[in-house]
Amino acid sequence: MRDIIRLLPDSVANQIAAGEVIQRPASVVKELIENAVDAGATEINIVIRDSGRTLVQIEDNGSGMSETDARLSFERHATSKITAAEDLFHITTKGFRGEALASIAAVAMVEVKTKREEDEAGTLIEINGSHIQRQEPCSFHTGTVFSVKNLFYNIPARRKFLKSDHTEFRHIITEFQRVALAHPAIRFSLTHNSEEIYHLPSGNSRQRITGIFGKQYNQNLVDVDTKTTIIDVAGFAGKPECARRTPGEQFFFINDRYIRHPYLHRAVMEAYQGILPADAVPAYFLFLTADPATIDVNIHPTKTEVKFEDERSVWQIILASIRESLGRFNVVPSLDFGPESAMEIPVLPSGLERPQVPEPETDPSFNPFDSNEYSRPSNAWNNNDRRHDSNNWESMYSVTSRSNEGNDQKDYQEQIHVENRRRFFQIKNRYIMCPVISGIMMIDQRRAHERILYEKFLGSLGDGPSPAQITMFPIEAELNPGDMVILKEISDDIKKMGFEIEKGKGNRVIIKGHPADSRNPNPLEMLLTLIAEYKNTLNDPSSGTRERVALSMARASAIAYGMALTQTEMEELFDMLFACSVPGYSPSGKTIMNILSLEELDRRFS
Ligand code: ADP
Ligand code: MG
Repeated sequence: MRDIIRLLPDSVANQIAAGEVIQRPASVVKELIENAVDAGATEINIVIRDSGRTLVQIEDNGSGMSETDARLSFERHATSKITAAEDLFHITTKGFRGEALASIAAVAMVEVKTKREEDEAGTLIEINGSHIQRQEPCSFHTGTVFSVKNLFYNIPARRKFLKSDHTEFRHIITEFQRVALAHPAIRFSLTHNSEEIYHLPSGNSRQRITGIFGKQYNQNLVDVDTKTTIIDVAGFAGKPECARRTPGEQFFFINDRYIRHPYLHRAVMEAYQGILPADAVPAYFLFLTADPATIDVNIHPTKTEVKFEDERSVWQIILASIRESLGRFNVVPSLDFGPESAMEIPVLPSGLERPQVPEPETDPSFNPFDSNEYSRPSNAWNNNDRRHDSNNWESMYSVTSRSNEGNDQKDYQEQIHVENRRRFFQIKNRYIMCPVISGIMMIDQRRAHERILYEKFLGSLGDGPSPAQITMFPIEAELNPGDMVILKEISDDIKKMGFEIEKGKGNRVIIKGHPADSRNPNPLEMLLTLIAEYKNTLNDPSSGTRERVALSMARASAIAYGMALTQTEMEELFDMLFACSVPGYSPSGKTIMNILSLEELDRRFS
């Protein structure tokens, strides 16, 4: 038999390698910006067209390349950054594998112009799908510009796999932010389809953070600064009262390289333990500096995963330095946490008995001039489509039990026979209790409302728009560019769900109305939470865009813990919950209700 093994031509090998390094336009942006940083640039300008499908152009004023280097830079494993395997343990540059340019050139049409300070003329090279088209002298300033056109033009399957323009551009923003945060001294600009998205002057870390995420971050962050023999930790930690229920911005950098590190994230969370509202995640920007010999960045081609030699010590150091900062800046739980979170904070060390705060029983909807208070149909939950008349609730259950698919739900349905006169009461303004035939039903009010809104919002994407509640005085606000990108992505959907928003100048938005069913009293806060929630859902590839938008809307507008509800409101919530197709679980999969059975009660008294 003939020998059948053949070496792949370089162009094919490069294409295969590109699969690992270049997944989408954002990967090109990341690799090229990192090269510019490595070349010592003090200014980097990025021009994107059509979310990078048509053009990614990165121009820097760095070292530039000689004619030969420019040509060589496109070869696989061609790098000026390391020369021997030992160098892998002393890496101070972003790149070192020498595969980015080869990979990009394999799957796009690339043009580079570059010139070193000492050279008279620059070099221009055009290379398409790994094949050099043109190489000639050109006039250019000191530095380099890469123009990457028509990414994946020669791999239609890859091109087809790219997501919507909004999504691809959001990925670009993410990569951009990571490098820009790590290098505040470098001037950056980012332009998309002729619109300038970022213009970041050279500055310090704090200025860079506010330049990217908005001025309000300035007063929300406390400094972190700890030096140890193992690792230095510098940067900023968010004040607990600014933490959101959704992860806001969390960044780890090691030696100026952005990394993902779930293990160290837990160290940060631990430092906040006891002073954060439940489910809230603080913002943080932590710049770690360590001897390159003690870390390994070469465990993944994208280099966002890093191994520390002494991970447990790093964990301890991060924990201690954040605790110290929060203490030093006197970040004690403050009262403007909002009622939901205030309850969660053990202000006293555990073991001490907590003083009991008297909780007045109030009924916000009580109106002494309305003699018929409880018989009036409330519109608090659901203005236009009260799906079920509360007098008719028994028939409702028979409907839902038939249409129900979940087994757990079916169990619930069989058990729920609410006693003749339904009586509801709240515990801690958090759980709704209701005696049912088999015992006592306990419902998590926020999760229940999330479920109701989720199904409603999802419906409004299909069946027809949800009503908006028009704001008497439109609210105008400035969003940060990253949030603006997300807002554009979801704006069509959230308009159908009842948000009336218009784009103002630049990154300003005008909120004219918000979903009528929302129980979030502040439309702007609701919009920001919605955007943050949506960002948060992006890690979950299993659900579609619509589900994610509906879920985020539900979480941003659902009733908070700590909110007192009237009898009518509890009753309506109860009815609407059981009209849902999945009443047992919140849209993010958490248990909504529990029944404390009579047997259990009996057992406790026996
Ligand atoms: P790596 O960054 O891992 O070395 P790349 O394929 O990204 O590999 O780049 C190959 C080489 O091309 C780099 O090592 C560097 O010498 C050169 N190079 C790339 N981009 C630039 C730039 N913007 N300015 C100067 N040199 C560059
Ligand atoms: Mg590189």
